[in-house]
Amino acid sequence: MTTPISSATTSTTTTPPAAPAAGTSLDATTSPAATGVGSATVDTKAPGAASAPRRTRSEAELKALVEEANELFGERNADTQELLAWAGRTFGKSLAVACSMASDTVVPALVSQHIKDVDVLFLDTGYHFQETIETRDAFASDWPVNVRTLLPRLTVPEQDAEFGPKLHDREPATCCGIRKVEPLDNALEGYEAWVTGLRREETPHRANAAPVEWDERHHMVKINAIVDWTFDDVVSWAETNLVVVNPLLTQGYPSIGCAPCTRKVAPGEDPRAGRWSGLGKTECGIHV
Ligand code: SF4
Repeated sequence: MTTPISSATTSTTTTPPAAPAAGTSLDATTSPAATGVGSATVDTKAPGAASAPRRTRSEAELKALVEEANELFGERNADTQELLAWAGRTFGKSLAVACSMASDTVVPALVSQHIKDVDVLFLDTGYHFQETIETRDAFASDWPVNVRTLLPRLTVPEQDAEFGPKLHDREPATCCGIRKVEPLDNALEGYEAWVTGLRREETPHRANAAPVEWDERHHMVKINAIVDWTFDDVVSWAETNLVVVNPLLTQGYPSIGCAPCTRKVAPGEDPRAGRWSGLGKTECGIHV
């Protein structure tokens, strides 16, 4: 069973090495002074250029670890802290965390309690809200992590020249493929496991996600650390632990992606209704 969020917070024996005293709460609109705890790097366009190979286990060995995790934690509601403690012991620096710098900053914050200077992968599509970039910078300074900013192979002007302007309005799957899926695929090649902020309540496609899965696309272990958390759980943990989150969350954007593909939602509306609204698309492709 999953430990309630408040219990998970108080029961952990591994608190962040440096509490992010300068972190922002949900009420903040911008991040304050940085503490300089973490670090940040920007990858070059060469696929995987900044990723030192960290895979030492075979695919069979990695699959066996998925089975081990499912036996230890079950396939529905794992205790997040126990799960991440296992992940830290098992993978160490051969694990990376994906983060969109929306509400999911809680995920690398949680992981950093178990793996110091863990790599955090941020996809800079070139279309982000300024608030998202500022959230990335504040988070990188507040927490003991290494934020890797991943760039697509094409800049926005280069994509416009090759495909025409506003590809996101005409072929969002192609745009997401170039700007999100490809860079992440390339970066993940260097690791044995990745941690996501995927939550079951977000979309029907995610409703059956397990805490630990075999990722057939990337041939690696996928750890959905907060798979059974609600949005309120995330907000509560962020506030309690002073984790900076994207200020747009409290301005009508409960789900935040690229600016051209994200609109405000009305009270009571599906939180993800503002993503690719009217385009019949619900996933960017990195979780399918
Ligand atoms: S979310 Fe929109 S702008 Fe961003 S990569 Fe996907 S289609 Fe392109």
